[in-house]
Amino acid sequence: MGIVLDKDMDEARQGEAISMDSSKGGKKLYLESYGCAMNFSDSEVVASIMTNQGFSTTQDSEEADVVLINTCSIRENAEQRIRNRLTQFNKAKRQRPGMVIGILGCMAERLKKNLLEEEKLVDLVAGPDSYRDLPGLISEVEGGQKAVNVLLSRDETYADINPVRLDKNGVTGFVSITRGCDNMCSFCVVPFTRGRERSRDPHTIVQECAALFNAGYREVTLLGQNVDSYRWNMTSKGDIKDETKPTTNFAELLVMVAGVHPELRIRFSTSHPKDMTDDVLYAIANHKNICNYIHLPVQSGNSDILKKMNRGYTREWYMNRIDAIKRIIPDCGISTDIISGFCGETIEEHQDTLSIMREVEYDSAYMYKYSERPKTLAERKYEDNIPEDEKQRRLEEIIELQHGHSLKIHKAQIGQIQEVLVEKESRRSSEQLMGRTDKNHKVIFDRKDAKIGDYVMVKITDCNKASLRGEIV
Ligand code: SAM
Ligand code: SF4
Repeated sequence: MGIVLDKDMDEARQGEAISMDSSKGGKKLYLESYGCAMNFSDSEVVASIMTNQGFSTTQDSEEADVVLINTCSIRENAEQRIRNRLTQFNKAKRQRPGMVIGILGCMAERLKKNLLEEEKLVDLVAGPDSYRDLPGLISEVEGGQKAVNVLLSRDETYADINPVRLDKNGVTGFVSITRGCDNMCSFCVVPFTRGRERSRDPHTIVQECAALFNAGYREVTLLGQNVDSYRWNMTSKGDIKDETKPTTNFAELLVMVAGVHPELRIRFSTSHPKDMTDDVLYAIANHKNICNYIHLPVQSGNSDILKKMNRGYTREWYMNRIDAIKRIIPDCGISTDIISGFCGETIEEHQDTLSIMREVEYDSAYMYKYSERPKTLAERKYEDNIPEDEKQRRLEEIIELQHGHSLKIHKAQIGQIQEVLVEKESRRSSEQLMGRTDKNHKVIFDRKDAKIGDYVMVKITDCNKASLRGEIV
């Protein structure tokens, strides 16, 4: 099984392709993953299910018996990229007609049988809650049928599956804590593709983090579309909500995971401004190994647009949360997501986005043009009426402003000594290493005696808008 991951922390967060190779015999699987960290984490579950079925890996799709592509639907261009890739696989299939091509994840869930019947691009379609069924679906295809399972579940969390770790560095790992989403942001396709929100048993989360630590990992990122709505009821029936039973909330889960080991750093994504409580902030402030870093997507700085986006907060509420972060965790990295050119956004409303950026001064941001998605509330209710070139112009203004803020925040760190967890060799030179500070700033420095997985103290000597440079002290 060869696993190639386009590991974006969030779709446009383009990361390097990551692959894993296994020399086991048996049928060969090639797995490619697009989109958010949650997809990356799901691919690790898929890899585990397939390995247990005796599949081995290949990094060469052309020698694979089964090609699986784990997909993203968040914006139209993400889907287009995946269609192009499927066309390439279909060309290879002409040479090797026995090859099974399957689509997993959000695009599978959104387009269902269309991909089999109309577009004729794949043999197998499996939605995010049907990965346990993959071996059966593959057998159906091998028996001459097309296979589909896009049933969404109220309770599947894959809690008992031990993911095969695909990130080669062996230092940082993702751990899913919730699946699905119960919010209905009007622009977003996720509630349709990933189903209802459900939380995972906290003990299985702690066990997975402890296993990662024992295997040499030094950082975990807890994943959910809205980590702040994590809630587990201690009933014998798993997460069935029984309000009379004691519960675990996200702040309590953080503290449980922080207890795994003081040298295991904890990050999480994504916080939702409407739900993030002060308890979460105190958990961060009171535990050195919970990183001083919060990703708090704002989307827009204008309350009317936020209302149309159905985000559940106003600009004032959002700023109240930012003030709470700055009060409770005085030295905290903050990043965000921003959408330009949402339905009917006026120039003044766009200016409000720029002004909230100036008020907060984010360390970094993921910035997107609005992309209308079928069946969402926004598609049904509002006109996507900002011309593409105007969306682009507004996006460029947002990006330029953010770059200025990132550079300013980086420059302020020159001369400081920071603790850095070493993640990997730098892309430019094997003589240099890359790691991150507690606040999630990337630092590049000469290797000296440091090893991947070490914590080192680095004096910051230089920077640009993307990263810091430094030397080990
Ligand atoms: N659950 C997270 C939250 O509520 O912030 C976000 C998850 S979404 C996968 C990541 C980001 O993609 C969103 O924060 C939003 O900025 C962006 N996004 C989602 N739908 C979009 C759309 N239709 N067009 C443009 N950007 C979109
Ligand atoms: Fe989409 Fe909103 Fe859910 Fe995030 S919280 S996944 S943006 S619906």
